[in-house]
Amino acid sequence: MRPRRAGCGDHGVVTSVTVVGGGVVGLTSALRLAENGHAVTCVRDVPAAGTVSAVAGGLWFPYHVEPRSRVVAWGLASLARFGMLADDPTAGVALREGLLVERAGPDRWWTEGVSGWRDAEPAELPDGAESGVVITVPLVAMPVYLGWLETACVAAGVTLAGRRVDDLADIEDDVVVVAAGLRAPALLPDVEVTGSRGQVALLANPGIDRWFVDDGFEGAMTYVLPHPGWVVCGGTDVPDGSEEADPAVHDAIVARCRAAVPELRDAEVLGSRVGLRPVAPAVDLRLHHVHGRPVVTNVGHGGAGITLSWGCADEVVALVDGLE
Ligand SMILES: Cc1cc2nc3c(=O)[nH]c(=O)nc-3n(C[C@H](O)[C@H](O)[C@H](O)COP(=O)(O)OP(=O)(O)OC[C@H]3O[C@@H](n4cnc5c(N)ncnc54)[C@H](O)[C@@H]3O)c2cc1C
Repeated sequence: MRPRRAGCGDHGVVTSVTVVGGGVVGLTSALRLAENGHAVTCVRDVPAAGTVSAVAGGLWFPYHVEPRSRVVAWGLASLARFGMLADDPTAGVALREGLLVERAGPDRWWTEGVSGWRDAEPAELPDGAESGVVITVPLVAMPVYLGWLETACVAAGVTLAGRRVDDLADIEDDVVVVAAGLRAPALLPDVEVTGSRGQVALLANPGIDRWFVDDGFEGAMTYVLPHPGWVVCGGTDVPDGSEEADPAVHDAIVARCRAAVPELRDAEVLGSRVGLRPVAPAVDLRLHHVHGRPVVTNVGHGGAGITLSWGCADEVVALVDGLE
């Protein structure tokens, strides 16, 4: 750990930042801070491949997250950055067309500022659905993308450290960014985040590249998110803390997705994954002062941590730069 620079604050110069968290939110924050000239250490006790971020389907869509007034701008910033990353074959980002079925009728708040979408034709919709949106958005292959993010962090000068932080007071850098997802309240008791369980099934990709989301089931959705080699099939969204895959839920997901996308009928089942979405009443992105030191929280992204990652990281940088 670099020593905390004496006189920081007095001289108005931020030199060192520790980011706690190495999921998509922490890594993106670390990368943006390093790109902006800060000396950054990213500390995490779970490698990226073991995080909730690695379970995610990777669709750009602001699902189960508040407040909408800020989510739109964060999502647009991420949309632009992922659009650029789609040109990098190592990043695991593709721009793919798909269908979002709206069982409860049109709810288009999230399209503000987004171009290139259209109403689905009736013939494109599943039985019983009356509306939907066809749109091309980023689809992020998370295991690939998280590796890309770590590599980009190191290239930008971020030090990646593997250890658990038990107390923010143990960190010596000038500024701390808490991007610890569901576990943020253990570090900052006034932060409110709870887990919402998401289970997915992984199937071999038989050659599909169009995604499908149908939010038409109580406590469950049907979604099919194709990546090169595998398809993330979902899913559930229930307030439950268990991280064990439920075999009955798995079978129901596979059956629903095969019914929705017939090309999956004979696709090999590769496994199950469970993640707990870090849900908060609103994304907690603000500046605190803990024992006199600036602490920025970037937590509570619910079902939209990838979707909002770049926009929120930009705001973290603005808050840290604002200390100077
Ligand atoms: C099934 C499922 C599907 C999803 N699909 C999508 C999707 O399609 N699109 C989308 O945008 N979002 C999706 N999400 C939501 C997304 O996965 C989350 O919002 C996002 O991963 C949260 O990222 P994070 O970095 O905040 O947390 P995490 O990925 O949980 O990372 C937390 C990090 O903090 C570290 N940490 C915590 N406490 C400490 C500590 N005390 N000391 C050291 N390290 C610590 C951990 O080691 C870890 O590295 C989905 C989620 C699930 C469960």
